[in-house]
Amino acid sequence: MKKKRIVIALGGNALGKNLPEQYLAVQETSKAIADLIEEGNEVIISHGNGPQVGMINNAMASYSKTDPSHPTITPLSVCVAMSQAYIGYDLQNALKEELLNRGIKKNVATVITQVRVEKEDPAFLHPTKPIGHFMTKEEADAAVKESGIQVIEDAGRGYRRVVASPQPAEIIEIDTVRDLLEAGEVVIASGGGGIPVIRIGNHLKGVGAVIDKDFASCLLAQQLDADFLIILTAVEKVALHFGTQKETWLNDITVEEAKTYMEEGHFAPGSMLPKVEAGVKFASSGDNRTALITLLQKARDGVNGKTGTRIHL
Ligand code: ADP
Ligand code: MG
Repeated sequence: MKKKRIVIALGGNALGKNLPEQYLAVQETSKAIADLIEEGNEVIISHGNGPQVGMINNAMASYSKTDPSHPTITPLSVCVAMSQAYIGYDLQNALKEELLNRGIKKNVATVITQVRVEKEDPAFLHPTKPIGHFMTKEEADAAVKESGIQVIEDAGRGYRRVVASPQPAEIIEIDTVRDLLEAGEVVIASGGGGIPVIRIGNHLKGVGAVIDKDFASCLLAQQLDADFLIILTAVEKVALHFGTQKETWLNDITVEEAKTYMEEGHFAPGSMLPKVEAGVKFASSGDNRTALITLLQKARDGVNGKTGTRIHL
């Protein structure tokens, strides 16, 4: 089998929702990733951080109440940096261990990654990205009143805090990621969509936003000239009429078909829609670029064309 360069975007279920869950989840996740490395592929891993960044944000807010010298608000950019570090720590260790268990000698490194956004991105005027824990309607109303945050109802699963989600424009550490990759290392980069920054001359300034990990992974895959963008999530395939009597699972779809389905409103904004959009963007960006959306446990079967939903030109 020909060696492929694969960018893997890990969804929430690959990491669990708290520290003990994460420690266990990354072991399972590492097996799926190691399967792809074992087949000779070059792998770059990116991941979400919704529950984690929310947890850090809430923890820092509580801490500020006990220590008056601590600022009330920890910038979201700092919260994303913290989430990249502790998720990367667990993931790189678990993956390294899994590779050693299989007799594969490869270094695994996490790159704290900043992603530049446009200051004028209209997303700043309309927050859409859910972060943190799910709340009941009553909890959500109380949180809005107490801390002035904005909340939305998230795909029938409860209420969550919502922040601006601007488009990724540039991966600041892309050359570092490429160098590590070309040295044969496995790289974890652009976690949580990357630390959102704007450029002011030579200065990079963190901004209060969360970049969608599916879009950031798409940009990463494009800039690394990857063959595959694999978005691993909680469903094995993408569906038309999802969750209804007319539900139909999709196998191979073209960019044009995917665009039609998006227009018809088959994919929930904030969950499946960004994945299909990212897939379309990646698949449209060059010949032989395929996007795959599937379950973590099915990653290898998906790459080998046996399952999942594939988007191609
Ligand atoms: P992740 O953490 O992997 O980004 P999300 O919850 O954001 O996961 O998105 C995946 C979810 O999208 C699925 O678990 C499913 O509930 C939901 N979903 C919405 N529309 C669709 C669809 N048309 N086909 C499949 N899943 C869908
Ligand atoms: Mg998501």
